[in-house]
Amino acid sequence: MHVPFVDLKIQYKNIKSEIDAAMAAVLADTAFIAGKYTTAFETDFAAYLGVKHVIGCGNGTDSLEILLQAMGVGRGDEVLVPANSWISTSETVTTIGATPVFVDNHPTLYTIDVSKIEEKITPRTKAIVPVHLYGLPAEMDELMAIARRHGLKVLEDCAQSHAATYKGRKAGTFGDASSFSFYPGKNLGAYGDAGAMATNDDAIAERARMISNHGQIAKNTHAIEGRNSRLDGMQGAILKTKLPHLESWTESRRKNAALYNTHLADTGLLLPVAPDDARHVYHLYVVQVPNRDEVQAALKAEGIETGIHYPTALPLMQAYAYQNHTAKDFPVAASQMDKLLSLPMYPELTEEMIMHVCRSLRKSLAAVVAPA
Ligand SMILES: *Cc1c(COP(=O)(O)O)cnc(C)c1O
Repeated sequence: MHVPFVDLKIQYKNIKSEIDAAMAAVLADTAFIAGKYTTAFETDFAAYLGVKHVIGCGNGTDSLEILLQAMGVGRGDEVLVPANSWISTSETVTTIGATPVFVDNHPTLYTIDVSKIEEKITPRTKAIVPVHLYGLPAEMDELMAIARRHGLKVLEDCAQSHAATYKGRKAGTFGDASSFSFYPGKNLGAYGDAGAMATNDDAIAERARMISNHGQIAKNTHAIEGRNSRLDGMQGAILKTKLPHLESWTESRRKNAALYNTHLADTGLLLPVAPDDARHVYHLYVVQVPNRDEVQAALKAEGIETGIHYPTALPLMQAYAYQNHTAKDFPVAASQMDKLLSLPMYPELTEEMIMHVCRSLRKSLAAVVAPA
């Protein structure tokens, strides 16, 4: 049985008539850049999150970069980021002229280890960028308390956490601003690159909107130099069409995760941990396995595609060699990176597929990890 890692085709098939109509409307209106379809999505997404401002932009990397700038972070500043994330979280700190300072991750939650944040704070620290990694919100109460104590800004990276909640509140509503990616494989995905910035802060919103559109405050009136990072009308219309489905897709992901949990419970593997006060939205279902590469190959032989998120902790990447870190600096992230394995996860996975993955994983563990 073939089990893809994600399946964007089946989702499109299920909502084809709605999507095709939305795209046809954009074409008929030639409302390609910004315009009414983008604005309509921004309005809906702001209402969905319960925030005052949502500003669409080109992708979830631009949104991090623009928001850091809009929050007043810049040259000479230090920004705390988790050691385990996609590189957008740290590279955007560098592109605005600041320095990323890495913090190890929690051993079972995978999000930034809040007990290790304060030791990294210096007089130059300006902000923290927690990532709600794999779909589980970071421990925001503790993190916000630290930020307040030290006068730091907080930018939530919500690229993997659409619809996640922490203590009943949506991820993306805790910090000064939050950044969303709608890369096609994300829990709410566009059909191309797209992103959005969310905030309740009028000044951050105004600056972010300006920066993303050449610093314009009115046509041909540029208050500052900005850049071009806008949400196009086609993606806006597609996202507006998909947003009402997000809740049921999220419930399907959670149901699939529960099935994995049940059928892998006795394997002894470290399965995803979801604290009672958080709603994990399982952008990824990550387990830790010994002999990971052999297990991954054995699953592939059974038709099962898996992923690794991420194979190298950010501070140990060549891109950050200038920081001279070794594995000892990030004992948790460094010891986990050879064990992480992401199993197939998307709303339309069938129970039969999940059972096949669980059976094959058991078989490969028996063969690879404890040979007779
Ligand atoms: C996907 C992702 C991003 C970047 O989003 P793009 O839209 O691909 O630029 C940023 N941070 C995290 C944690 C991500 O997973």
